[in-house]
Amino acid sequence: MNRVEDVFPESVYRCYQCATCSAVCELSPDDLPFPRRQMLLAQWGQDEKLLSDPAVWFCHFCNDCTVRCPRDARPGEVLQGIRSRIIEKQSVPRWLGRLFGTARWSWVLLLGAPLLLWLAILYAVNGLAVPDVPAGKLNYGEVVPHWLLYLVFFPLAGFVVAVTAMGASKFWTSLQGAERRRGSFLANLAPVLWEIATHRRFGKCRAASGRKWGHFWLVWGFVAALVATTLAVVALYALDHYPLELTHPFKWVGNIAAVMLVVGGLLILGERLKEDSSLGNSTAVDNFFLALVLVVVFSGVLTELGRFAFRPGLAVGIYVIHLASIFTLFLSLPYSKFAHIVYRTLAMVHERMTGIQPK
Ligand code: SF4
Ligand code: SF4
Repeated sequence: MNRVEDVFPESVYRCYQCATCSAVCELSPDDLPFPRRQMLLAQWGQDEKLLSDPAVWFCHFCNDCTVRCPRDARPGEVLQGIRSRIIEKQSVPRWLGRLFGTARWSWVLLLGAPLLLWLAILYAVNGLAVPDVPAGKLNYGEVVPHWLLYLVFFPLAGFVVAVTAMGASKFWTSLQGAERRRGSFLANLAPVLWEIATHRRFGKCRAASGRKWGHFWLVWGFVAALVATTLAVVALYALDHYPLELTHPFKWVGNIAAVMLVVGGLLILGERLKEDSSLGNSTAVDNFFLALVLVVVFSGVLTELGRFAFRPGLAVGIYVIHLASIFTLFLSLPYSKFAHIVYRTLAMVHERMTGIQPK
């Protein structure tokens, strides 16, 4: 694995340990302050200590520290880089972690391979035939039967759950202070989930406060999308009512989820496009994940519209892109920025179980 100073060579060595960053960070607990200590460990090349340090996950990349750092050592970006390296280190198999971790070039493969896979499957199943129906009469289930969706996505979901559990288990075991944990995991998980749901900590960020609302709407958009998918399964199997018309209440849940995801994605994209480098630069891995979410959301919206408004060939083409992007999004869970859902949550539970006092 790369050493941390290989990732941020210049900025790390500019730090002269004044501790301004730890003082201004609203999220740094008194008994486990960051990021000054992590800057020192990075300068010393103490990779193993950094990679098992729970504190790097309490950081929400607001960059209040980076803005105030008198040496432009960019501590927020350094912590972000450490988190990316931890995700890569815990990856099973490691080569997939490296592939997602080098998203600067591999995004073509990560999006292109699932697209080719879907085209090959559809060619084998129906010769890529598109129904010759007028606009509004297209049923995607006739092009991509449900059994085919299950054949592709069920094994993928099983793989993702298994490797995520393996990575999470390695991470949980590796965290410093594990011997001091007290109490039940589930009892401590509940308040952590509430904190994530309300974005209480994120709300303390000042310099890049706009990221909070983008993140908030993305998280709740994903939750709403999960509910919409469950309702679609209910409509298909319990109510025998499929495809759903646009005005159906279940469809509205999906539409609300799409709006939340679009709003969240655009808010974060707006923050990224701001040409204020003092707020810290996003990495290629961050940008790849955001781009992937936007491709999933917009291709989903166009798929829905396409059923009524586009020629069948165009609508089916967009649908296949949507399926391919969902495949990549699922697969990215243990390997990309997406994985912070698991690792940050575990670190926050660890924080409570070891008695570290969150601010
Ligand atoms: S990163 Fe900047 S603010 Fe933090 S200790 Fe180093 S020089 Fe000081
Ligand atoms: S980026 Fe924000 S949360 Fe992270 S260490 Fe800096 S001030 Fe604290």
